[in-house]
Amino acid sequence: MTGKGFSTRAVHGAAAPPTVQQPASVPIYQTSTWRFSSSEEFAEVLASARPGHAYGRGYGNPTVEAFESVMADLEETEAAFGFSSGASAIFTTLLLLARRDGAGPGRIVASRHLYGGTYSLFAEVMPTLGIEVDLIDAADLDVVAGALEGASAFYCETIANPLCRVLDLPALAELCREKGVPTVVDSTFASPWLCAPSSFGFDFVVHSVTKFIAGHSDVIGGVVCCSAEDRKRIRHLAIEVGGAMQPFDAWLTVRGLESLDVRIRRQCSNAQLLADALAEDQRIVVVHYPGLTGHPDHETARRLFRQDAYGGVLSVEVDGGVDEAVRWCDALQVAWIGASLGGAHTLVCHPASTTHRQVARESRREFGLADGLVRISAGLEDGGDLVDDFVQALKAV
Ligand code: PLP
Repeated sequence: MTGKGFSTRAVHGAAAPPTVQQPASVPIYQTSTWRFSSSEEFAEVLASARPGHAYGRGYGNPTVEAFESVMADLEETEAAFGFSSGASAIFTTLLLLARRDGAGPGRIVASRHLYGGTYSLFAEVMPTLGIEVDLIDAADLDVVAGALEGASAFYCETIANPLCRVLDLPALAELCREKGVPTVVDSTFASPWLCAPSSFGFDFVVHSVTKFIAGHSDVIGGVVCCSAEDRKRIRHLAIEVGGAMQPFDAWLTVRGLESLDVRIRRQCSNAQLLADALAEDQRIVVVHYPGLTGHPDHETARRLFRQDAYGGVLSVEVDGGVDEAVRWCDALQVAWIGASLGGAHTLVCHPASTTHRQVARESRREFGLADGLVRISAGLEDGGDLVDDFVQALKAV
């Protein structure tokens, strides 16, 4: 850059050095735009007529692509597309299917056991776009079969937030295939470690990467794993509506994924320890955890999950209502009160007043979301310390 002014040198001096050996850490390409040698090259890359990168709103970034390729591999799909949040991955995937390639708004059939944010997307947002959503009891295959006629998508969660219901995913995928209805599953609670729903026949597997996948409570991200053809359609729509994953988040997530196996093993064993201990306590009405033999979906979970493990989240109903649940949470000393799950710290929340506040009281009752319910995301602490903490805090109830 000799002969150029200070500012020109400051802007152009730091070309990425090519390396002979591969670095252990995927480089962060923290750039929003790319330089082309000609306008023709620029136009062709934008139009996907030749490989390359153009702009950071979904046109591609090598760090994000590194994340996408590892996710596709773990979810056993041909491809994946990264999003800036789980919510944007869910919305974009369902918008793609519900607008039926421009043929007008369609209808989504969804399990009624859902994360509260997805519930309000279905109840508040989709109808304003003309998209109807039928919330049904997806554990009843006859009910599902009756609702599928003419639907544009079927949607459910692998382990549903927060009651940890596990649906018969292979049977649901088969039913939807017979009816020609594309299937979408939010597998956030399971992570690809417990199962790969594409192997059960699901077309789109979405995740809030924010949770177990990134794993350290420092990223908001999402992903959809699907066929290469569907990825093209998702990418096309994501470029229009925004919400593509950004390189630093992809970098943190790739780093987090390297330890997913060891992290989630500990989270599952801590969740099981807590479930076993709390299920014995007189002050507890019920523990919802698929690892307990008394859970209605224990056998389904055993059949679907590849490990003898049942996830890092459980929900526990204390004897009483809102006041007792809140007092229990407030008396915890090791576990933290907070949003999210799947991180290193054990987190608790009271769904009725936080994550599921959007669900009307009557509907909460109907879905089994008791006022005294507390959701626990088991972290990486010592299991004995967690059990002691939750038991000591019950004195405050
Ligand atoms: N899906 C599930 C099951 C969740 O629990 C959440 C958030 O809590 C989301 C999706 C939304 O993800 P994000 O917060 O990354 O947008």
